[in-house]
Amino acid sequence: MFNRDYNENPFIVIWELTRACELKCLHCRAEAQYRRDPRELSFEDGKKLIDDIYEMDNPMLVFTGGDPLMRPDVFDIAEYAVEKGVRVSMTPSATPNVTKEAMEKAKEVGLSRWAFSLDGPNAAIHDHFRGTSGSFDLTMNAIKYLHELNMPIQINTVISRYNYDHLDEMAALIEELDCVLWSVFFLVPTGRGQEKDMITPVEHEKTFKWLYELSKRVPFDIKTTAAQHYRRVVIQNKMREKQATGEGINYQDALMNGTTGQIDGLGRAPKGVNDGNGFVFISHIGDVYPSGLLPIKAGNVKETPLADIYRDSEVFQNLRNPDAYKGKCGVCEFRHVCGGSRSRAYAMTGDYMESEPYCVYIPKALRGKKKNVV
Ligand code: SF4
Repeated sequence: MFNRDYNENPFIVIWELTRACELKCLHCRAEAQYRRDPRELSFEDGKKLIDDIYEMDNPMLVFTGGDPLMRPDVFDIAEYAVEKGVRVSMTPSATPNVTKEAMEKAKEVGLSRWAFSLDGPNAAIHDHFRGTSGSFDLTMNAIKYLHELNMPIQINTVISRYNYDHLDEMAALIEELDCVLWSVFFLVPTGRGQEKDMITPVEHEKTFKWLYELSKRVPFDIKTTAAQHYRRVVIQNKMREKQATGEGINYQDALMNGTTGQIDGLGRAPKGVNDGNGFVFISHIGDVYPSGLLPIKAGNVKETPLADIYRDSEVFQNLRNPDAYKGKCGVCEFRHVCGGSRSRAYAMTGDYMESEPYCVYIPKALRGKKKNVV
Protein backbone atom coordinates (compact mmCIF):
# COMPACT_ATOMS: atom_id res chain seq x y z
CA MET A 1 0.00 0.00 0.00
CA PHE A 2 2.63 2.52 1.04
CA ASN A 3 4.94 1.78 -1.90
CA ARG A 4 2.17 2.05 -4.45
CA ASP A 5 3.30 3.51 -7.76
CA TYR A 6 0.59 5.95 -8.83
CA ASN A 7 1.69 5.56 -12.45
CA GLU A 8 0.40 2.00 -12.23
CA ASN A 9 -2.37 1.94 -9.66
CA PRO A 10 -4.57 4.45 -7.88
CA PHE A 11 -4.75 4.82 -4.13
CA ILE A 12 -8.48 5.50 -4.27
CA VAL A 13 -11.29 4.85 -6.76
CA ILE A 14 -14.52 6.81 -6.61
CA TRP A 15 -17.51 5.20 -8.31
CA GLU A 16 -20.60 7.30 -8.84
CA LEU A 17 -23.17 4.51 -8.53
CA THR A 18 -26.00 6.73 -9.71
CA ARG A 19 -26.69 10.37 -10.35
CA ALA A 20 -30.12 10.18 -8.83
CA CYS A 21 -30.60 12.15 -5.60
CA GLU A 22 -33.49 13.76 -3.76
CA LEU A 23 -31.44 16.74 -2.55
CA LYS A 24 -30.69 19.98 -4.41
CA CYS A 25 -27.32 21.00 -2.98
CA LEU A 26 -26.09 24.43 -4.00
CA HIS A 27 -22.64 23.22 -5.07
CA CYS A 28 -23.53 19.77 -6.50
CA ARG A 29 -20.72 18.55 -8.74
CA ALA A 30 -23.01 16.01 -10.40
CA GLU A 31 -25.96 18.39 -10.94
CA ALA A 32 -27.87 15.40 -9.60
CA GLN A 33 -31.28 14.47 -10.97
CA TYR A 34 -34.37 13.05 -9.27
CA ARG A 35 -34.50 9.98 -11.53
CA ARG A 36 -31.99 7.27 -12.22
CA ASP A 37 -30.34 7.23 -15.63
CA PRO A 38 -31.29 4.09 -17.60
CA ARG A 39 -27.70 3.96 -18.89
CA GLU A 40 -26.25 3.38 -15.37
CA LEU A 41 -23.78 0.50 -15.07
CA SER A 42 -25.75 -2.67 -14.30
CA PHE A 43 -25.06 -5.00 -11.38
CA GLU A 44 -23.13 -7.28 -13.76
CA ASP A 45 -21.13 -4.30 -15.14
CA GLY A 46 -20.45 -3.32 -11.54
CA LYS A 47 -19.10 -6.76 -10.59
CA LYS A 48 -16.75 -6.72 -13.56
CA LEU A 49 -15.64 -3.21 -12.59
CA ILE A 50 -14.95 -4.31 -9.01
CA ASP A 51 -12.86 -7.21 -10.33
CA ASP A 52 -10.84 -4.74 -12.42
CA ILE A 53 -10.43 -2.36 -9.49
CA TYR A 54 -9.27 -5.19 -7.23
CA GLU A 55 -6.63 -6.18 -9.79
CA MET A 56 -5.11 -2.70 -9.52
CA ASP A 57 -3.48 -3.57 -6.21
CA ASN A 58 -6.79 -3.31 -4.38
CA PRO A 59 -7.20 0.44 -3.85
CA MET A 60 -9.84 1.93 -1.57
CA LEU A 61 -13.27 2.16 -3.15
CA VAL A 62 -15.81 4.87 -2.40
CA PHE A 63 -19.44 4.69 -3.54
CA THR A 64 -20.72 8.16 -4.25
CA GLY A 65 -23.55 9.73 -6.22
CA GLY A 66 -26.00 11.38 -6.56
CA ASP A 67 -27.13 9.25 -3.67
CA PRO A 68 -25.84 5.66 -3.66
CA LEU A 69 -28.94 4.67 -1.67
CA MET A 70 -31.09 5.48 -4.74
CA ARG A 71 -29.84 2.16 -6.16
CA PRO A 72 -31.75 -0.79 -4.71
CA ASP A 73 -28.77 -3.08 -5.40
CA VAL A 74 -26.24 -0.87 -3.56
CA PHE A 75 -25.69 -3.39 -0.76
CA ASP A 76 -25.42 -6.31 -3.18
CA ILE A 77 -22.65 -4.42 -4.98
CA ALA A 78 -21.01 -3.54 -1.66
CA GLU A 79 -21.22 -7.15 -0.48
CA TYR A 80 -19.59 -8.40 -3.67
CA ALA A 81 -16.71 -5.95 -3.21
CA VAL A 82 -16.24 -6.62 0.51
CA GLU A 83 -16.24 -10.39 -0.02
CA LYS A 84 -13.44 -9.92 -2.51
CA GLY A 85 -11.45 -8.04 0.12
CA VAL A 86 -12.03 -4.48 -1.13
CA ARG A 87 -12.34 -1.74 1.53
CA VAL A 88 -15.53 0.11 0.71
CA SER A 89 -16.96 3.30 2.10
CA MET A 90 -20.05 5.17 1.03
CA THR A 91 -21.26 8.78 0.95
CA PRO A 92 -25.08 8.65 1.04
CA SER A 93 -27.19 11.80 0.96
CA ALA A 94 -29.13 12.67 4.09
CA THR A 95 -32.63 11.78 2.90
CA PRO A 96 -35.37 9.50 4.22
CA ASN A 97 -33.50 6.70 2.36
CA VAL A 98 -31.14 6.66 5.36
CA THR A 99 -33.28 4.23 7.33
CA LYS A 100 -32.21 2.10 10.28
CA GLU A 101 -32.49 -0.90 7.93
CA ALA A 102 -30.08 0.73 5.44
CA MET A 103 -27.54 1.46 8.16
CA GLU A 104 -27.86 -2.05 9.60
CA LYS A 105 -27.40 -3.52 6.14
CA ALA A 106 -24.26 -1.44 5.64
CA LYS A 107 -22.89 -2.83 8.88
CA GLU A 108 -23.92 -6.37 7.97
CA VAL A 109 -22.18 -6.37 4.57
CA GLY A 110 -19.01 -4.98 6.14
CA LEU A 111 -18.81 -1.40 4.91
CA SER A 112 -15.63 0.19 6.27
CA ARG A 113 -16.98 3.66 6.80
CA TRP A 114 -20.09 5.77 6.36
CA ALA A 115 -19.59 9.39 5.26
CA PHE A 116 -22.13 12.16 5.74
CA SER A 117 -22.00 15.75 4.56
CA LEU A 118 -22.26 18.49 7.12
CA ASP A 119 -21.78 22.00 5.83
CA GLY A 120 -22.81 24.08 8.79
CA PRO A 121 -22.77 23.79 12.58
CA ASN A 122 -26.54 24.22 12.74
CA ALA A 123 -29.68 23.44 10.75
CA ALA A 124 -30.03 26.97 9.34
CA ILE A 125 -26.64 26.98 7.59
CA HIS A 126 -26.48 23.33 6.64
CA ASP A 127 -30.02 23.02 5.31
CA HIS A 128 -29.67 26.19 3.24
CA PHE A 129 -26.52 24.81 1.63
CA ARG A 130 -28.07 21.40 1.03
CA GLY A 131 -31.26 22.96 -0.35
CA THR A 132 -33.49 20.82 1.88
CA SER A 133 -34.88 21.52 5.33
CA GLY A 134 -34.61 18.68 7.85
CA SER A 135 -31.31 17.45 6.42
CA PHE A 136 -29.30 18.56 9.49
CA ASP A 137 -31.58 16.83 12.00
CA LEU A 138 -31.73 13.69 9.90
CA THR A 139 -27.93 13.57 9.78
CA MET A 140 -27.63 14.02 13.56
CA ASN A 141 -30.09 11.19 14.23
CA ALA A 142 -28.41 8.88 11.72
CA ILE A 143 -24.98 9.51 13.24
CA LYS A 144 -26.35 8.59 16.65
CA TYR A 145 -27.59 5.28 15.27
CA LEU A 146 -24.36 4.60 13.34
CA HIS A 147 -22.49 4.98 16.63
CA GLU A 148 -24.80 2.39 18.19
CA LEU A 149 -23.82 0.08 15.32
CA ASN A 150 -20.15 0.88 15.84
CA MET A 151 -19.75 2.11 12.28
CA PRO A 152 -16.80 4.53 11.78
CA ILE A 153 -18.08 7.91 10.60
CA GLN A 154 -16.53 10.44 8.29
CA ILE A 155 -17.86 13.96 7.91
CA ASN A 156 -17.45 15.81 4.62
CA THR A 157 -17.65 19.60 4.69
CA VAL A 158 -17.53 21.99 1.77
CA ILE A 159 -15.84 25.25 2.78
CA SER A 160 -17.54 28.20 1.13
CA ARG A 161 -18.73 31.73 1.84
CA TYR A 162 -21.72 30.17 3.62
CA ASN A 163 -19.74 28.64 6.48
CA TYR A 164 -16.32 30.34 6.46
CA ASP A 165 -17.24 32.42 9.51
CA HIS A 166 -18.32 29.33 11.46
CA LEU A 167 -15.27 27.09 11.23
CA ASP A 168 -14.60 26.95 14.98
CA GLU A 169 -18.20 25.89 15.63
CA MET A 170 -17.90 23.32 12.83
CA ALA A 171 -14.78 21.80 14.35
CA ALA A 172 -16.44 21.66 17.79
CA LEU A 173 -19.37 19.81 16.28
CA ILE A 174 -17.15 17.29 14.47
CA GLU A 175 -15.37 16.61 17.75
CA GLU A 176 -18.65 16.20 19.60
CA LEU A 177 -19.87 13.75 16.95
CA ASP A 178 -16.86 11.50 17.55
CA CYS A 179 -15.91 11.05 13.88
CA VAL A 180 -12.78 9.31 12.63
CA LEU A 181 -12.13 11.71 9.77
CA TRP A 182 -13.08 15.25 8.81
CA SER A 183 -12.80 15.54 5.05
CA VAL A 184 -12.66 19.22 4.22
CA PHE A 185 -13.48 20.08 0.66
CA PHE A 186 -12.69 23.44 -0.95
CA LEU A 187 -15.14 24.56 -3.59
CA VAL A 188 -14.31 24.12 -7.26
CA PRO A 189 -16.55 26.14 -9.58
CA THR A 190 -17.93 23.25 -11.62
CA GLY A 191 -21.41 21.67 -11.80
CA ARG A 192 -23.62 23.84 -9.55
CA GLY A 193 -20.58 25.17 -7.66
CA GLN A 194 -20.09 28.88 -8.34
CA GLU A 195 -17.06 31.13 -8.13
CA LYS A 196 -18.94 33.73 -6.09
CA ASP A 197 -19.38 31.15 -3.31
CA MET A 198 -15.65 30.41 -3.03
CA ILE A 199 -13.49 31.83 -0.28
CA THR A 200 -10.54 33.95 -1.47
CA PRO A 201 -6.97 32.62 -1.94
CA VAL A 202 -5.89 34.39 1.28
CA GLU A 203 -8.82 32.82 3.14
CA HIS A 204 -7.71 29.42 1.79
CA GLU A 205 -4.29 30.01 3.29
CA LYS A 206 -5.77 31.13 6.63
CA THR A 207 -8.02 28.07 6.69
CA PHE A 208 -5.08 25.74 5.99
CA LYS A 209 -3.12 27.22 8.90
CA TRP A 210 -6.16 26.93 11.13
CA LEU A 211 -6.67 23.31 10.04
CA TYR A 212 -3.05 22.47 10.74
CA GLU A 213 -3.27 23.88 14.27
CA LEU A 214 -6.56 22.04 14.76
CA SER A 215 -5.02 18.77 13.55
CA LYS A 216 -2.51 18.90 16.39
CA ARG A 217 -5.12 18.89 19.15
CA VAL A 218 -8.17 16.93 17.93
CA PRO A 219 -8.63 13.15 18.07
CA PHE A 220 -9.98 12.88 14.51
CA ASP A 221 -7.93 12.84 11.33
CA ILE A 222 -8.20 15.71 8.81
CA LYS A 223 -7.94 15.40 5.05
CA THR A 224 -8.51 18.04 2.40
CA THR A 225 -9.98 17.70 -1.08
CA ALA A 226 -9.25 20.10 -3.94
CA ALA A 227 -6.71 21.75 -1.63
CA GLN A 228 -3.43 20.04 -2.38
CA HIS A 229 -1.68 23.18 -1.16
CA TYR A 230 -2.73 22.28 2.39
CA ARG A 231 0.13 19.76 2.16
CA ARG A 232 2.54 22.62 1.49
CA VAL A 233 1.27 24.43 4.58
CA VAL A 234 1.64 21.26 6.69
CA ILE A 235 5.19 20.77 5.45
CA GLN A 236 6.16 24.42 5.96
CA ASN A 237 4.81 24.34 9.51
CA LYS A 238 6.48 21.05 10.37
CA MET A 239 9.77 22.34 9.02
CA ARG A 240 9.44 25.53 11.04
CA GLU A 241 8.67 23.55 14.19
CA LYS A 242 11.61 21.20 13.62
CA GLN A 243 13.95 24.09 12.91
CA ALA A 244 12.88 25.73 16.14
CA THR A 245 13.93 22.61 18.04
CA GLY A 246 17.16 22.26 16.04
CA GLU A 247 16.07 19.03 14.28
CA GLY A 248 16.45 18.52 10.55
CA ILE A 249 13.56 17.37 8.36
CA ASN A 250 13.08 16.81 4.66
CA TYR A 251 9.94 17.38 2.60
CA GLN A 252 9.13 13.71 2.26
CA ASP A 253 9.44 13.09 5.99
CA ALA A 254 7.26 16.07 6.69
CA LEU A 255 4.63 14.87 4.26
CA MET A 256 4.65 11.32 5.56
CA ASN A 257 4.39 12.43 9.16
CA GLY A 258 1.64 14.83 8.31
CA THR A 259 -0.67 12.59 6.34
CA THR A 260 -0.46 8.93 7.24
CA GLY A 261 -2.97 8.59 10.03
CA GLN A 262 -4.33 5.06 10.50
CA ILE A 263 -7.51 5.38 12.45
CA ASP A 264 -10.04 2.84 11.27
CA GLY A 265 -8.02 0.59 9.00
CA LEU A 266 -8.75 2.56 5.83
CA GLY A 267 -5.41 4.34 6.04
CA ARG A 268 -4.46 7.54 4.32
CA ALA A 269 -2.59 8.33 1.15
CA PRO A 270 1.14 7.89 1.78
CA LYS A 271 2.03 10.53 -0.78
CA GLY A 272 0.28 13.37 -2.49
CA VAL A 273 -2.83 12.16 -4.31
CA ASN A 274 -4.07 14.48 -7.01
CA ASP A 275 -6.56 14.24 -9.87
CA GLY A 276 -5.53 11.31 -12.08
CA ASN A 277 -2.51 10.73 -9.86
CA GLY A 278 -3.48 8.09 -7.32
CA PHE A 279 -7.11 9.06 -7.90
CA VAL A 280 -9.69 8.01 -10.48
CA PHE A 281 -13.41 8.67 -10.85
CA ILE A 282 -15.93 6.46 -12.65
CA SER A 283 -19.25 8.00 -13.57
CA HIS A 284 -22.67 6.35 -13.30
CA ILE A 285 -22.46 5.30 -16.96
CA GLY A 286 -18.88 4.05 -16.75
CA ASP A 287 -17.04 7.09 -18.11
CA VAL A 288 -13.61 7.52 -16.53
CA TYR A 289 -12.30 10.90 -15.34
CA PRO A 290 -9.21 12.01 -13.38
CA SER A 291 -11.67 13.21 -10.71
CA GLY A 292 -15.34 14.02 -10.37
CA LEU A 293 -14.43 17.70 -10.62
CA LEU A 294 -12.32 17.46 -13.77
CA PRO A 295 -14.73 16.75 -16.61
CA ILE A 296 -12.29 15.41 -19.21
CA LYS A 297 -13.37 11.93 -20.20
CA ALA A 298 -10.49 9.50 -20.72
CA GLY A 299 -12.50 6.39 -21.70
CA ASN A 300 -15.34 4.12 -20.63
CA VAL A 301 -15.01 0.93 -18.59
CA LYS A 302 -17.47 -0.89 -20.86
CA GLU A 303 -15.06 -0.42 -23.78
CA THR A 304 -11.59 -0.36 -22.19
CA PRO A 305 -10.27 -1.92 -18.97
CA LEU A 306 -9.97 0.63 -16.19
CA ALA A 307 -6.24 -0.14 -15.75
CA ASP A 308 -5.52 0.72 -19.40
CA ILE A 309 -7.35 4.04 -19.15
CA TYR A 310 -5.69 4.94 -15.87
CA ARG A 311 -2.18 3.99 -16.95
CA ASP A 312 -2.13 4.96 -20.61
CA SER A 313 -4.54 7.78 -21.38
CA GLU A 314 -2.92 11.07 -22.27
CA VAL A 315 -4.78 13.17 -19.73
CA PHE A 316 -3.86 10.84 -16.84
CA GLN A 317 -0.23 10.71 -17.95
CA ASN A 318 -0.04 14.50 -18.23
CA LEU A 319 -1.56 14.93 -14.80
CA ARG A 320 1.07 12.64 -13.29
CA ASN A 321 3.86 14.84 -14.59
CA PRO A 322 4.14 17.87 -12.26
CA ASP A 323 7.30 19.00 -14.07
CA ALA A 324 5.08 19.84 -17.05
CA TYR A 325 2.62 21.96 -15.06
CA LYS A 326 2.46 25.55 -16.28
CA GLY A 327 3.03 28.79 -14.42
CA LYS A 328 4.24 28.80 -10.86
CA CYS A 329 3.11 25.23 -10.03
CA GLY A 330 5.50 23.93 -12.72
CA VAL A 331 8.55 25.44 -11.01
CA CYS A 332 7.38 25.23 -7.42
CA GLU A 333 9.56 23.18 -5.09
CA PHE A 334 6.36 21.64 -3.69
CA ARG A 335 5.01 20.49 -7.06
CA HIS A 336 5.58 16.77 -6.43
CA VAL A 337 3.84 16.75 -3.06
CA CYS A 338 1.28 19.45 -3.86
CA GLY A 339 0.83 20.44 -7.49
CA GLY A 340 -2.32 22.43 -6.74
CA SER A 341 -5.85 21.35 -7.59
CA ARG A 342 -5.86 20.32 -11.22
CA SER A 343 -9.67 20.51 -11.14
CA ARG A 344 -9.67 24.12 -10.02
CA ALA A 345 -7.02 25.01 -12.58
CA TYR A 346 -9.24 23.50 -15.27
CA ALA A 347 -12.47 25.03 -13.96
CA MET A 348 -10.98 28.52 -13.83
CA THR A 349 -8.58 28.59 -16.78
CA GLY A 350 -9.79 25.82 -19.12
CA ASP A 351 -6.34 24.14 -18.90
CA TYR A 352 -5.78 21.36 -16.38
CA MET A 353 -2.00 21.88 -16.55
CA GLU A 354 -2.23 25.55 -15.51
CA SER A 355 -1.30 26.82 -12.06
CA GLU A 356 -3.60 26.44 -9.08
CA PRO A 357 -5.36 29.82 -9.21
CA TYR A 358 -6.09 29.92 -5.45
CA CYS A 359 -2.60 29.48 -4.01
CA VAL A 360 -0.82 32.51 -2.56
CA TYR A 361 2.62 30.89 -2.39
CA ILE A 362 5.48 32.28 -4.48
CA PRO A 363 7.87 29.42 -5.31
CA LYS A 364 11.54 29.97 -4.47
CA ALA A 365 12.44 29.89 -8.17
CA LEU A 366 10.27 32.93 -8.78
CA ARG A 367 11.15 35.12 -5.82
CA GLY A 368 11.96 38.58 -7.09
CA LYS A 369 10.19 37.84 -10.39
CA LYS A 370 6.67 38.12 -9.04
CA LYS A 371 5.41 40.19 -11.97
CA ASN A 372 6.03 37.31 -14.36
CA VAL A 373 4.03 34.78 -12.34
CA VAL A 374 0.94 33.51 -14.08
S1 SF4 B 1 2.44 27.11 -6.35
FE1 SF4 B 1 1.32 25.25 -6.97
S2 SF4 B 1 2.66 23.54 -6.37
FE2 SF4 B 1 3.37 25.36 -5.26
S3 SF4 B 1 2.32 25.30 -3.29
FE3 SF4 B 1 1.06 26.56 -4.66
S4 SF4 B 1 -0.40 25.15 -5.54
FE4 SF4 B 1 1.25 23.91 -4.67
